[in-house]
Amino acid sequence: MSTPRIGVLALQGAVAEHARALESAGAAVSTVRRPAELAGLDGLVVPGGESTTMARLAAPVHLMEAIRERHDEGMAMFGTCAGMILMADEILDAEALTGFERIGGLDVVVRRNGYGSQLDSFTGPLTVAGLPGTDLSPLQAVFIRAPIIESIGPQVEVIASWQDRPVAVRQGRVLAASFHPELTPDHRLHQHFVQLAADRISS
Ligand code: GLN
Repeated sequence: MSTPRIGVLALQGAVAEHARALESAGAAVSTVRRPAELAGLDGLVVPGGESTTMARLAAPVHLMEAIRERHDEGMAMFGTCAGMILMADEILDAEALTGFERIGGLDVVVRRNGYGSQLDSFTGPLTVAGLPGTDLSPLQAVFIRAPIIESIGPQVEVIASWQDRPVAVRQGRVLAASFHPELTPDHRLHQHFVQLAADRISS
């Protein structure tokens, strides 16, 4: 199997941590700041950070639209925290994002900062369905100003929940999580995404 090529949107946020996790999961990793850097990618990670900042930084080069187009052509996407917000089809408190393009493509409704402020950050054990390998132990999930997934569409599969709410979901070639899987040494969710992206190469 050829090595999957995964980009990390590098406008802001935990870019280096995602790159390390993806490399340890067997991907060839590059950073993306401009549409041309999306060429040839099998998958793209959109990290956490601040969705409003990322949308503003992407606007002058129309990067959000370019990501959406590449995804429509088959590129897989993994959105974490702010990244998930940018992929959500609907945001409940979207005032700060008004007038800015987002990626879309994930049939969920999210509420920004739904788990509270920076001071309310927490880590919790999560059982995630469908992870590769034989290690079935919970993944330690770090939540920082995390978005709440208020509802999901019929095509969306919930792969992990926290207190009866979905916090990791999958819809076709989109994976998304409310938390920060790049901040812990457990890279099983990144492995899962690299396999998802690789499916296109082998099929
Ligand atoms: N609350 C942030 C936003 O709205 C996301 C926080 C995060 O990515 N850790 O973009």
